[in-house]
Amino acid sequence: MNPFLELGIRHEVVNAITELGFEKPSSIQEKAIPVLLTGNDDFVGLAQTGTGKTAAFGLPLLEQLDFSQKHPQALVLCPTRELCLQIAKDIEKYAKYIDNVNVVAVYGGANISDQLRQIRRGVQIVVATPGRMLDIIGRNAIDFSQVKYVVLDEADEMLNMGFQEDINTILSETPDDKKTWLFSATMPREVRRIAQKYMTDPVELTVGTKNTGNANIEHHYYLIRARDKYAAFKRIVDSNPEIFGIVFCRTKIETQEIAEALIKDGYNADSLHGDLSQQQRDKVMKRYRERNLQLLIATDVAARGIDVNDVTHVINFSLPDEIENYTHRSGRTARAGKTGISISLVNIKEQSKIRQLEKVIGKPFERKQVPQGTEVCEKQLFSIVNKIQSVEVNEAQIAPFLPGIMENLAELSKEDIITRFASLEFNRFLEYYQNAPDLNIDANDRGDRGERGERGDRGDRRQGSKGFTRLFMNLGSVDELSRGDMLGFICNNAKITGKSIGKIDMKGVFTFFEVEDAEVEKVFEGFKSVDFNGRQVRIEVSGDRDRNSADGGGRSRGGDRGGFGGRSDRPRGDRRQGSGSGERRGGFGGERRDRREGGNSGGGFRDFSGKRRESKSKY
Ligand code: AMP
Repeated sequence: MNPFLELGIRHEVVNAITELGFEKPSSIQEKAIPVLLTGNDDFVGLAQTGTGKTAAFGLPLLEQLDFSQKHPQALVLCPTRELCLQIAKDIEKYAKYIDNVNVVAVYGGANISDQLRQIRRGVQIVVATPGRMLDIIGRNAIDFSQVKYVVLDEADEMLNMGFQEDINTILSETPDDKKTWLFSATMPREVRRIAQKYMTDPVELTVGTKNTGNANIEHHYYLIRARDKYAAFKRIVDSNPEIFGIVFCRTKIETQEIAEALIKDGYNADSLHGDLSQQQRDKVMKRYRERNLQLLIATDVAARGIDVNDVTHVINFSLPDEIENYTHRSGRTARAGKTGISISLVNIKEQSKIRQLEKVIGKPFERKQVPQGTEVCEKQLFSIVNKIQSVEVNEAQIAPFLPGIMENLAELSKEDIITRFASLEFNRFLEYYQNAPDLNIDANDRGDRGERGERGDRGDRRQGSKGFTRLFMNLGSVDELSRGDMLGFICNNAKITGKSIGKIDMKGVFTFFEVEDAEVEKVFEGFKSVDFNGRQVRIEVSGDRDRNSADGGGRSRGGDRGGFGGRSDRPRGDRRQGSGSGERRGGFGGERRDRREGGNSGGGFRDFSGKRRESKSKY
């Protein structure tokens, strides 16, 4: 008998999930479903993402609700729009063979009228992100008086994103006798408090060890000088030709810089961060899901809830500010029983963080050596050979060209032809990695050559000319501004003359420009609340990405840490050309409860904090 039937799931649902490839319950499903099917208990499930949590609560919900009625009976709250859509879609799939099941996904950044219309039409299951849910409650547009079940999914993430107050308010709209099911990857104090506040004797289940990452993830780290970070990163990517990865950065500027540098260097990459509108995010995610992007460069906040299977590597280009985020980052790989690798690029000063992380995940990290140039070449060569071996030949299509090809190659021996075909791609790497230096450093090397070197290296790029400060603006050439337009735009708003402006360096979605030190404050003042095509214009001091900013504008002038050298360190090739950033246009939007936090002091991680922070951020 089908094990889901044995657990008490009805035939219609079992048929639907069998079509989805669910043969037997995952561990959390096996444990949670029998408890949740009783419908009598509050529940706390500690489980990582990717363990099958959605079905663990989704299947019991389908058994418990009365679909002949059209009022909301279950409310699922989750932290992000992606997760919200995913859950709603998944539940609809499980319910494919049950009549009259209505699920609505309620999330920010999309047209609220459509969502209100769906609610009015009648729904039994509401899947929502807290901000938009609150908005709808505020409009008296939903009646939660008959809700029987509330699911808090990724509760730690919701608190982490500052949704605590929203959750309190939303829960107060639901009946006292509802049952609350809470799922969380970790159990910090704040989540524990929610459990205590809203639940009565919850049944608690843990899948895997508390706080422990997925056992299928290998954790690697590379010890390098800060200035070599980007070069080392690219070597790692180049030595994994089949990589399909998510690269995590701490700030949105860093994601943009790295994505831009990678695109320039011939990779298929793009960035995902809090400044993109939902439409832009969707486009990036679509390209990534369809594998038209090989590397997705993301901030923690933007990557929440991303559920893409087959991610081979998570790369921590910068370690997360908060230790909890490491588990969330690495959980983007090794989903649905697959294996994956989580890579961290660390400098000497960050080694202690690796030890902290080992404690959190309960597993040692493996130190890996940045591949030497020759190793990268070897990997690339064999990747080419494998591709030649496994390429699908379309006999019919190529047939008409074969005589000509044969004639052209008639002079060459089989060995010659093989060598030449392989060399087509390989030469670029060979040439590029010729004389490539060793990027590894000694773990006991206390010298800070790297840090100094990095600052030196970056002086030209990041700092303004003498007497000038280099500023960042979130408008660029995609906004159809010429350099002259930009100059006028700055001068008009800041009320300064063109003489006070130095170099203007317009990129795709952002611009760096120099302003005389004495006039910098005027620029910040002038751009305090300027909109461009409905988008709030943001000014930051370039290179000061790691610091806090109470207005989201980024004005502190602390030191620049981490980051990348921005050197072109890879042969170019059409094969990986990304389509670039041209599509990142349009206004701000979306529900953002991003975090605004101070820069990492470098000495360790900040404590987890469930405090709410307001909307705009550097993420
Ligand atoms: P989730 O943790 O709910 O995001 O699920 C992670 C992935 O595992 C999703 O792609 C699910 O479709 C898949 N999945 C969940 N449960 C099962 C199961 N019992 N058998 C096979 N795949 C599953």
